[in-house]
Amino acid sequence: LDLTYFADNTEAIATNMRLRNYEPDSIYQVRELYLKLNTLGIEAEKLRDERDQVNVLIRSASSAEKRQKYINQAKHWKDQLRQLEMQISNTESELTTQALQIPNDTHPETPLGPEENAKVLKIIGEPRKGKDLKDHVTIAEKLDMIDFEQASLVTGSKFYYLKNYGAWLEFALIQYAMHKAASKGFSPVLAPDMVRTSIAYGCGFQPRKKEASQIYDVTTASTINTSAPKLCLVGTAEIPLAGLSATKMYAEEKLPKKIVGFSHAFRAEAGHGSAEERGLYRVHQFSKVELFCVTTPKQSDAMLAELRSLQEDMFSDLGLCFRVLDMPTEELGASAYRKYDMEAWMPGKNGWGEISSTSNCTDYQTRRLDIKYLSKEFKKNVGFKDIRVPWSVKEKWVNYCHTLNGTAMAVPRVIIALLETHQRPDGSVHVPLPLRKWIPGEPDILQ
Ligand code: AMP
Repeated sequence: LDLTYFADNTEAIATNMRLRNYEPDSIYQVRELYLKLNTLGIEAEKLRDERDQVNVLIRSASSAEKRQKYINQAKHWKDQLRQLEMQISNTESELTTQALQIPNDTHPETPLGPEENAKVLKIIGEPRKGKDLKDHVTIAEKLDMIDFEQASLVTGSKFYYLKNYGAWLEFALIQYAMHKAASKGFSPVLAPDMVRTSIAYGCGFQPRKKEASQIYDVTTASTINTSAPKLCLVGTAEIPLAGLSATKMYAEEKLPKKIVGFSHAFRAEAGHGSAEERGLYRVHQFSKVELFCVTTPKQSDAMLAELRSLQEDMFSDLGLCFRVLDMPTEELGASAYRKYDMEAWMPGKNGWGEISSTSNCTDYQTRRLDIKYLSKEFKKNVGFKDIRVPWSVKEKWVNYCHTLNGTAMAVPRVIIALLETHQRPDGSVHVPLPLRKWIPGEPDILQ
């Protein structure tokens, strides 16, 4: 983390934190601890000098008596230095803890304030309205596609079984999204559903003070083997996909790196339990296809536009009515510099519901996960073909990458939008063309 940047820009960072609905205590503590660390560093340097001088005196002492006197002095300096070094190490770790709480900077055009201040950038399609339109729970029940009751008995509320066309629809949506992204140059990846908590924190998913964690911890592994790392279930494939690049150094020519990944997503969030969040809207486990990119700083703005355009294409192909929102400061979380959400019209609740999101996280995650690139200029100026040359030689040509993520397909909410948008008066559902080939019998109607 760039602690000098934090210490030199405290007030601007505190303002940014307030706008993002963060308490700014951490940034003030960072400045204080940073200054303390500098002072302790100077003291330690002085003590080391004094210790070295005494060591010289020991070697050149003219008598055994003098020598013993200097040895006693050296012991004194050594004890003092040991104490100071301990203080430095504690201060450093406190400083890191506080610095990790600081969110990313914010794009200057981002709207300020809470969710209601999101700016609607465009609406695609016509919202389908009508008194006779049914919600997805009713439609799915008639088609025997989802079982909430048995899932509640087997696991708990907010879990579900997808059955028959429900199961096929999930596979169809995943296949469609993976293939569509692959056709735009994204490489497919199947990601682990569990990660070390340090990787989740590196992506900006650490619980905030006083806030209940949204993350499910997996305690069994560390109970059986106490030296095993602390693991958690991923809330989004963004985490293992970011982890795929952790500690890597890319050659600039190899960027951008574009991945489309699949994982399950686990969220402990309870939601408000309102009728609006009925059925599949807010669940504890769901399948998700995620877009993830690693770029140079210069490429990330254009990549955000590319991700958004791909998402818009996909939801248009599925015949959904949706709108694109420029999300305001309080909705950016820890990592996003800029974020667009997409909300589909859901006739069952006669309103909009978020189905997708895309963010530019700039260097927030790459600093925490140590993802760098070596500039093209390196080869021009230094002439080495291989990037595995000593750090001292390449250091000044190395910079942090940027990361971006975007939801390609959050399955349950897209099922809601599809069933409710394409329902027919007799309870059957029209299937959008791109999904048919992934469903046995290639039906144009589910009935
Ligand atoms: P996020 O990573 O929070 O931006 O979420 C990505 C997408 O996942 C959202 O746009 C929703 O479509 C979907 N989503 C988020 N949370 C849930 C949930 N608890 N249940 C079902 N879908 C969800």
